[in-house]
Amino acid sequence: MIRPIRRALLSVSDKTGLAAFAATLAAAGIELLSTGGTAKMLREAGLDVTDVSAVTGFPEIMDGRVKTLHPKIHGGLLARRDNDADLAAMKAESIDNIDLLVVNLYPFEATLKRTDDRSELIENIDIGGPAMIRAAAKNHDFVTVICDPADYEVAGSEIITHGGTSLALRQKLAMTAFARTAAYDSAIANWMASDEANLPKSASLAGTRVNALRYGENPHQQAALYSHGDDRPGVTNARQLQGKPLSYNNINDTNAAFELVAEFDAPTVAIIKHANPCGVASAGSMTDAWQHALAADPVSAFGGIVALNRPLDEALAHAITSIFTEVVIAPDASDAAIAVMQAKPNLRLLLTGAMPDPAVSAPVFKSVAGGFLVQTRDNGIITRNDLKIVTRRIPSDAEIDDMLFAWKVTKHVKSNAIVFVKDAITAGVGAGQMSRIDSARIAVQKAADMAKLNGWDTPRTTGSVAASDAFFPFADGLEAIAKAGSTAIIQPGGSMKDDEVIAAADEVGLAMVFTGMRHFNH
Ligand code: 5GP
Repeated sequence: MIRPIRRALLSVSDKTGLAAFAATLAAAGIELLSTGGTAKMLREAGLDVTDVSAVTGFPEIMDGRVKTLHPKIHGGLLARRDNDADLAAMKAESIDNIDLLVVNLYPFEATLKRTDDRSELIENIDIGGPAMIRAAAKNHDFVTVICDPADYEVAGSEIITHGGTSLALRQKLAMTAFARTAAYDSAIANWMASDEANLPKSASLAGTRVNALRYGENPHQQAALYSHGDDRPGVTNARQLQGKPLSYNNINDTNAAFELVAEFDAPTVAIIKHANPCGVASAGSMTDAWQHALAADPVSAFGGIVALNRPLDEALAHAITSIFTEVVIAPDASDAAIAVMQAKPNLRLLLTGAMPDPAVSAPVFKSVAGGFLVQTRDNGIITRNDLKIVTRRIPSDAEIDDMLFAWKVTKHVKSNAIVFVKDAITAGVGAGQMSRIDSARIAVQKAADMAKLNGWDTPRTTGSVAASDAFFPFADGLEAIAKAGSTAIIQPGGSMKDDEVIAAADEVGLAMVFTGMRHFNH
């Protein structure tokens, strides 16, 4: 059905083709309303224009943030022309119909291509434009909306021929309009997601060289340590009290170890080899935590990197120096502890002054051929309240404590990661396998080896909990864990086979919780 057009509102940022289209409208006897810049341009083209501010009785304010957000405009766009109550309201409030809306939005996307200046981008978020477009599109039974200059021609020809537009055209234009506002808002949301992440539009790996290293990961590779000026407590900014210079691998492993213990509030010790933990334990005292972390895998701990989340005291210094260790990193150390460490002059002692905040967001880099990837560090933290229990059996408080412990460790294990924990001590770690079931098998095997080594009757996987850094694609990984004696499992969930995995857990009486967060670490 043709709806005649008597009055049009034009408010555009992209003024392409507008003067000609507006001249067509004027020639068809249509009254033109317009906002500041658009009105000026149309007047310069010799057309008669009524200012929106004259209609609303309100000036454009706040640098144009509020121009058309007024009932005299939105009432004119939204009124149902066949609804008596709407017509009465219009009469009572002296609102006149707006039959045609021509709006295109502040150029948010183009601005984003040109700059990453936050305040400029924010000012380029159009508010009144999308509000009008959506109002007119909703009311397309009566109102025509054009938000793309490419549609001037088809609308112009219907107006010239029929003095108005067809429902088919109004419907098509309304669909274009909603697609446009949806795309516009997603461009803004995507920008905000990356802006929040502090990822710049261009990045360089510029930094200042802290020192050259003897060699890289292997002796035939060259290497150096650089600082990019971030004063986060950690290996780059640590004070080295003794020992040979750190190697490339020492720095990498020490970083992994210290980031891991920073996750824990209780006194915690982590022993790291090849950037993966071989033993992690929390306890009432640091000396106990050390003994437990060491006992978790004393074979692998040989020549390891030890990280502490409390100052090093004398007793612990004695304990640590009793085995061969490459590096100890701690927030601080007592004078007596430092004196004990001096008996092992090759052992590097690093003091950071404080623990890093695991929740901090910062960019991390990885080289790929011809460029580099940037992402924010994995600062995701899961607490008790985030856990979703998915099985019939509800985990006990002790199981939940151990699951949260295992989850924190898992975040710092190379994927695919499976970590068994009992009483805040790792019982078996399966790292870096191409299949999750293999990681589970390796973790179980490690626990069995430790039982044999220590002369225990049963491996510590019996009565343990287990964590998986990503969901189980099949039930087999979970079955292997159950078979090893675990009573509860923590994992992200989100697999197509979740139902099958949950059913398998229920079948054997396991408790299982979903975190809703994955911790891939490659
Ligand atoms: P003009 O160049 O006519 O001064 O402004 C046109 C632009 O203003 C259009 O892109 C239109 O979407 C936008 N606009 C219209 N009304 C409002 C409003 O109330 N608030 C904001 N932020 N933008 C508006």
